[in-house]
Amino acid sequence: MSKVGEKKFEFEDDTGKPVDVDQVRAILKANDGARIKTWLSICSRCGLCAESCFVYVANDRDPRLSPAYKFRHTLGEMYRRKGNVDRAFLEKCYQIAWLQCTMCKRCSMYCPFGIDVATMIAITRSICHSQGITPKQLAFFSDHCDKTGNHMGIPVEELVDTCEWMVEEVEDDYKGVTIPIDQPDTKYMYTVNPREPVYYPQDISYAAIIFAAAKESWTMPTFGWDCTNLPMFAGNRKLAGKQVKNVYNKAEELNAGYILITECGHAYRSMVFEGPYMAGYPDGMPPVKVKHYVQLMYEYLRDGRIQIDPAKKIKEPITYQDPCNVSRNGGLWEHARKIIPYIAEDFRDMAPNREHNHCCGGGGGIMPMGPDYKPYRMASGKLKADQIRQTGAKIVITPCHNCFDQVNDLSEEFELGIKALSFKEIIVESMIVPDHMKLDPEK
Ligand code: SF4
Ligand code: SF4
Repeated sequence: MSKVGEKKFEFEDDTGKPVDVDQVRAILKANDGARIKTWLSICSRCGLCAESCFVYVANDRDPRLSPAYKFRHTLGEMYRRKGNVDRAFLEKCYQIAWLQCTMCKRCSMYCPFGIDVATMIAITRSICHSQGITPKQLAFFSDHCDKTGNHMGIPVEELVDTCEWMVEEVEDDYKGVTIPIDQPDTKYMYTVNPREPVYYPQDISYAAIIFAAAKESWTMPTFGWDCTNLPMFAGNRKLAGKQVKNVYNKAEELNAGYILITECGHAYRSMVFEGPYMAGYPDGMPPVKVKHYVQLMYEYLRDGRIQIDPAKKIKEPITYQDPCNVSRNGGLWEHARKIIPYIAEDFRDMAPNREHNHCCGGGGGIMPMGPDYKPYRMASGKLKADQIRQTGAKIVITPCHNCFDQVNDLSEEFELGIKALSFKEIIVESMIVPDHMKLDPEK
């Protein structure tokens, strides 16, 4: 990580144009509330936050990677200079804000003053973004969000085709699996990560099988179905607000009881905690109730709507990767731990875990930033690789696409010999198929 700065990264705007200082000042002024002022002035440089940051620990405890250094040398310096910064300075901020901090918020728990470094890094990202100093891939995905409502730019027909294809794929195994499209008045409007229709379409069929088994009332919308928010990670708050509003509006239009979030971490953070503010709801509350997939799966198992075949419980040792935005920032760490006894016999928790767990290294938008950034993900992910290895687990369950891909990459990089699995996949493989889904043996 100390090699940061040796590589030239591609920005959204590579023209090298001078910084619009007035624009930087305007963003600084808009954020110049009591909270930021206090955080910037109260930091005593005690260093207690350093050991809490996985980037710092995994990269030889380089003091430039401590949380306090990161915010003082980005946003703190911008305030000190009253916004009078140049492009070279913002390019250094870029490296700190996107390569050295995943905005996991772990350090805030260890700072005696509760200084929220992630929030200050988010403002730093907004300022860099205002000058076109945004990771090119995040800008590219954000543009798709703006034009199509989903970050991969998937047209409606393609989404519907994928859903139909997924239903056909399971017809030979189950009866009554459907994917209702744009159906009003259902209990759940199901929203997914665009990686699912493109790379993991079977995840959509797993969800449909589980809904069929539980006899659930649900629908897949043709717009507002992308629950992720890459503009939020790009520092584009305006577009991030639009993205989240697309989902809220569609749920209201369809009169859905809940917005259901697939196994994705930052989607939950965006939809429940940050989205309402970005979308202009001053009370900070989403206009429609939001549920994460781990909450629903736990309810199904607890209430007997899904039953697991004891013979199919996983025998190999498993562990659980707490996604930062599901556990620490979402408060859902116990839901997963209540699901696991239903599906596995040998659970070995990582240490530390729950809200104290370390980021996998793939959060904060670095995963979709592309292969140039993989060395940074791997360097910082070493701590997670060590945590996994220490459990002796062969399977890592995680309800987050970023964690899922990062854990698989870490397994390859550090020869962990493990595989990542989602709850959906395990539940479909191990559930007792209810009678109403069994195929007619004569057909
Ligand atoms: S938010 Fe996470 S990655 Fe960023 S400085 Fe704090 S602990 Fe490190
Ligand atoms: S623990 Fe808090 S006060 Fe101490 S250096 Fe870190 S941010 Fe500053």
